[in-house]
Amino acid sequence: MDLLNRQPDPESWGDSTRAIHAGSQREKPYHAIIEPLVQTATYTFRNSEEVIAYQDAHSRGLPTDRLEYGRYGNPTIAACEARLAALEGAETAIQFASGMAAITTTLLACLRSGDHLVMTDDCYRRTRQICLEFLARFDIQTSVVPIGDYAALEDAIRPNTRLLLSETPTNPYLRVLDLERFSEIAHRHRLISVVDTTFATPFNQRPLDWGVDIVIHSATKYLGGHNDLLAGFAAGSAAALTPVRELHNILGATADPHNAYLLLRGIKTLSIRLGRHNENGQRVAEFLESHPAVEQVWYPGLPSHPDYAVASAQMKGFGGVVSFTVRGGLYDTARFIDRLQIPYISPSLGGTESLVIQPALMSYYDVPPEKRQALGIRDNLVRLSLGLEDADDLIADLKQALEAL
Ligand SMILES: *Cc1c(COP(=O)(O)O)cnc(C)c1O
Repeated sequence: MDLLNRQPDPESWGDSTRAIHAGSQREKPYHAIIEPLVQTATYTFRNSEEVIAYQDAHSRGLPTDRLEYGRYGNPTIAACEARLAALEGAETAIQFASGMAAITTTLLACLRSGDHLVMTDDCYRRTRQICLEFLARFDIQTSVVPIGDYAALEDAIRPNTRLLLSETPTNPYLRVLDLERFSEIAHRHRLISVVDTTFATPFNQRPLDWGVDIVIHSATKYLGGHNDLLAGFAAGSAAALTPVRELHNILGATADPHNAYLLLRGIKTLSIRLGRHNENGQRVAEFLESHPAVEQVWYPGLPSHPDYAVASAQMKGFGGVVSFTVRGGLYDTARFIDRLQIPYISPSLGGTESLVIQPALMSYYDVPPEKRQALGIRDNLVRLSLGLEDADDLIADLKQALEAL
C-alpha cells in the first residue's frame, strides 16, 4: 500500500466533507478507518539495492513511495498536510512544530541579507519581535505600517523589498485585512505575500482565493481546537513552498506525529466547532456592546468595527475572539477578570474552553506602560476567546462580573 499517495478531494465537496475525508486514502493499513499514527523517528531499508533505488529516484526529484528519516517526512504528518492543503485550496501545506516555527521558517526561506519587508502593525507580538529584532541581525530590515492603510503599505515598498507580511483578523483588535488589495499590491511590485490567518481558519476565510501566496496558521488554536497541542502550518503553491520545505528539512522545527494525529482528529469537527465559535462570538460581542460597564468592543461582526464592511464581504463568520475595554483602570479590569467563573485566565484561543486575558498583564507585562500604550495596548483591555460553552452561560457570567465593576 502506498502510504504517501493521497487521494485528491473532489472540487464539489463542502468544508465539512473535506475536513473529514480530504487527503485520506479510502483504504488504510489493517482496514482501519482512521489514519494510522506512525510514531517513528526513522525508516528502514531491506537491503542496499533498495537504498540505491531510493537515492537514485530522490536525487532526480522523482516521487518515491517510501520515507527515509523523520525530519523529512511522516505518513501521519503527510495526511494532516494534505487535509489542511485541501481546506485552504492550496497545492501543498507543511506542518511545523508550532505556529512560530511556521512563521520563522517561511521568513528565513524567503528572505536573504539586504532584503526588506513590510508588515502591518496590530499583530502577534512574537512575529513583530522576529522581524524587528532577530531578522535585523542578518541585515533584513522591516517597516511597520498601520493595518488598513494601503497607501502607507505601498509607500513603504523599496527597491529591495521582497515580502509583505500581515495577519487577519489581528490580535488583539480583530482588524481585517482587505486580502484582494493586499495581494494586488504584492503582485504589482512582484513581492511575496504572506498572511497569518490563525484567527479565521479556512472555514471563515481562505486567503489563497484572494491571491495571497502563503497562508500561515498556528494550528495550536482553532485547527487543533482542544487546547491540547502545539502545531503550525504554511500553505500555498508548490513553487512558493518548495524553498520553505527544503529549509524546514534542515532547520528541523518538525511536527510530532502524535500531534498530527490529534490535529487530524480535531480538524474533522472544525466546521461545526467554528459554527459555534462564530455564534458565541457574535452573541457575546452584541451583549458586551449593550452593557453600560463596557467602554468599547472590537469584533468584526459588529457594524461599529472599523473593518465591518471588509469582513462582511470576505468572511463567512467572524470567529470566537472578542476584545473590549471596561470602564476602569488596570486593577479594576483585573478584578473584573478575577470574578469570571467560566473562562480560564490563559494566553491562547480557539479551544473548547473559553479563555480570557488582560494583555497589559499577560503578553505585554514586561513592556513599560508608555511603550505599551504606543503599541495600542490599553490598561483596561480584555481579550476573550470564546470556547464552545453555551452562549447564555457565558453572557450570564460576564454580566455578573461587569455588574460588580
Ligand atoms: C498563537 C499565534 C501564533 C504563534 O503560534 P504558536 O503555535 O503558539 O507558536 C502566531 N500567530 C497568531 C496570530 C497566533 O495567535
